Amino acid sequence: LVVLENVNKHFGELHVLKDINLTVHEGEVVVVIGPSGSGKSTLCRTINRLETFESGRIAINGTELPHEGKELARLRADVGMVFQSFNLFAHKTILENVTLGPMKVRGMKPAAAKEHAMELLTRVGVEHQASKYPAQLSGGQQQRVAIARSLAMEPTVMLFDEPTSALDPEMINEVLDVMTELARSGMTMVVVTHEMGFARKAADRVVFMSDGAIVEENTPEEFFTNAQSARAKDFLGKIL
Ligand code: ATP
Ligand code: MG
Repeated sequence: LVVLENVNKHFGELHVLKDINLTVHEGEVVVVIGPSGSGKSTLCRTINRLETFESGRIAINGTELPHEGKELARLRADVGMVFQSFNLFAHKTILENVTLGPMKVRGMKPAAAKEHAMELLTRVGVEHQASKYPAQLSGGQQQRVAIARSLAMEPTVMLFDEPTSALDPEMINEVLDVMTELARSGMTMVVVTHEMGFARKAADRVVFMSDGAIVEENTPEEFFTNAQSARAKDFLGKIL
């Protein structure tokens, strides 16, 4: 479903993605972990073409993302993305945040968009907040709205870049629970997170990045109990 082949990217002198090869199959949940600065966010942003890259190819659903234009907007809408900061539109209500994309990009009628949005807000447990503004919600609630907003576009894959790292501890689980439910429902997901409980529970595969490269990938059981590379062992020693 998502295929990266020999993807290379530099920021000036810095080789930030080094020959990345990664295939994410339909319904698969891939958790990406690695030290700060290893290129995890850049990888997500590159998959979604928020960043350009110099060589290699990235295909979503068998179609290579074009560099610009209408086609890019359409294909990008197939890739949902949830960031560390919630990035909701501050001057729009929760409901408007969720209906805007489907109406603008997918051409949905307002009534249908609203009905779908309310279903999604119910799914993530914030249906009672629909007429409020983002600032009136807790961080955990805002992040769940951000997930609903992405889902409203009916993406074929969802990318999550440390979605819980800006949250207070008591709100982390409510977001992870929504993500776990999403994983169980069969959504294809790429998740950058340091939440090892989530990785063990929901991941089909763990990808370990270090210094711009994929150093190791394995099932969560194998990876957490029997990491092969010195860098992965060292990293796990620090976080577990
Ligand atoms: P973290 O765990 O801290 O979020 P990360 O693995 O997500 O780290 P990236 O944000 O992808 O790492 O950054 C990878 C490297 O690229 C870092 O050395 C970073 O300083 C550099 N970098 C990221 N964005 C830019 C940019 N826009 N311009 C220049 N360098 C950048
Ligand atoms: Mg990052």
